[in-house]
Amino acid sequence: MVHVDGVKNILTVDVEEAFHRNDLHLSRRQRELLRGRVVAQTEHLIALLRSSGQRGTFFVLGEVAEQYPALVKKVAEDGFELGLHGYHHRLVYEQGEKEFRRETQEAKDMLERIGEREIVGFRAPSWSITNQSLWALRVLTDMGFQYDSSILPAMAYLGGIHRSHPGIHWRTEAEIIEVPPSIFRLGSFRLPFSGGLYLRTLPYRFIRYCIRRLNKKGIPAVIYLHPWEMDTELPRLGVGWKGRYALYYNLQTVQNKVERLLKEFSFAPVCEVLRDADTFCRS
Ligand SMILES: [Zn+2]
Repeated sequence: MVHVDGVKNILTVDVEEAFHRNDLHLSRRQRELLRGRVVAQTEHLIALLRSSGQRGTFFVLGEVAEQYPALVKKVAEDGFELGLHGYHHRLVYEQGEKEFRRETQEAKDMLERIGEREIVGFRAPSWSITNQSLWALRVLTDMGFQYDSSILPAMAYLGGIHRSHPGIHWRTEAEIIEVPPSIFRLGSFRLPFSGGLYLRTLPYRFIRYCIRRLNKKGIPAVIYLHPWEMDTELPRLGVGWKGRYALYYNLQTVQNKVERLLKEFSFAPVCEVLRDADTFCRS
């Protein structure tokens, strides 16, 4: 394993089904065709991480934890950090504060019960903590979360805050640590590269260049993966060209890209990197 300048990068995984994408409009039947694959998909990724001696943080969706508690236990027992990815994959800015608080607390309690540990990290679905929903950070602090990883510091289809701080930083208004996904910056130009559709679309060489560029400055890259994006046998649904792009584009490249990342860089869970940086993180 090559450790560029000894920097530990952050690997995160959003544990959800493919149909949870907020930009898809699927029928009930189509959702059923995709349901249940999350278990094998996540186990596959866990095996890959274990065989390469790498670890990370798994942000588990409440719905998934509820239906597959054994999967949550496996993530925890295999030494990965557990975080929360919301309950039903609803966009935070479409929920009122009251609803967000109720649902998130319910999901946190459940995940803590199943995982038998305190959950201190949160990631909103589709980067949906935006300028319209920054109130959510205070709600998370109130609930005992120590860090949030929901603000994409660039504009995306469903979320993002263009001018937000691109590195790990302290949010004074809510007293919480923000761990944004990494972006490539050139002047005022900002391009996400570190996960999801960006990881699928961009060539590996560019992704590697972006991570090295950060690491040379001593900055950890924050990568995010979805287990379903490594599932090349995802059932093919009639979903129109937009849906096809969102669900299937370049899926066949992800396994190889992830294997290369794991070989060329060092990765750790969010909590470990924060602890090393002398930022508190209890679990
Ligand atoms: Zn998600």
